[in-house]
Amino acid sequence: MKRFSLVMLFTIVIATMLAGCGLLSQQTTETKTKTPPVKEVTMVQPSGIPVLMYHKIGDDKDNDAVIREDLFREQMKFLKDNGYNPLTMDQLYDYVVNGAAVPEKPVVLTFDDGYADTYSIVYPLMKEYGFAATVFVNSGDVGTRLTWEQLKEMKENGMTISNHGFQHIEMGQLSKAEQMENIKRAQQALADKLGITDNPWFCYPYGDKNKDTDAATKESGIKMAMAMKSGWAHKGDNPYNILRVWIGNAVDIKHFEERISTEHFSDL
Ligand SMILES: [Zn+2]
Repeated sequence: MKRFSLVMLFTIVIATMLAGCGLLSQQTTETKTKTPPVKEVTMVQPSGIPVLMYHKIGDDKDNDAVIREDLFREQMKFLKDNGYNPLTMDQLYDYVVNGAAVPEKPVVLTFDDGYADTYSIVYPLMKEYGFAATVFVNSGDVGTRLTWEQLKEMKENGMTISNHGFQHIEMGQLSKAEQMENIKRAQQALADKLGITDNPWFCYPYGDKNKDTDAATKESGIKMAMAMKSGWAHKGDNPYNILRVWIGNAVDIKHFEERISTEHFSDL
């Protein structure tokens, strides 16, 4: 028994020494990284975060809101190859409202309107790269471009499905009660069809607002809403007016790099 205790003690002393010089912990990390791979992420407190605004992926060259598939793929590959970390809406909210730290090289990916290509192109790529992304859909239009089944599948595989209004109408033209109705009907549809009972995010159709819009949004149960005005999001910003970075065909890879590197990016 005594001999056993001595051996144990010796082992503990050696193990402690090894851990102290980092040898043991290094070995443990190496074993861990083989299966499955563990990504080490450094947390930071950035001065701002680019929230990228995409709409349709496709070939309509004359439409400002559309971006070619090859360009979109090149941009996502750039993010992956250069260590960018797409954030969830929860992470963005926690940063804006509470000043929480976020993974280094943060970026937020948003896709408005809910086009068919959001399912056929965006979704498989997000899965492949393990990127967080948020889709803002008009619940009243589901069935014309995307189905509830497709939205459910995307949701179950990590994408955030959220509220862009029941209809794609200008909120600035509506009374406060009408604005709340447009938001709440969509909230109800997200709950009924996707089981999202407390969606906290919204995106203003056309970025359009009037003096009642922030209050109408808040009183409809929304905690944070995306605008279309150009710029980055900062901690302390009004969560009902999150600025975004427009991305379209004019944003080649050089301009893309600029837009995610500095908030003083060139106008296009
Ligand atoms: Zn829209």
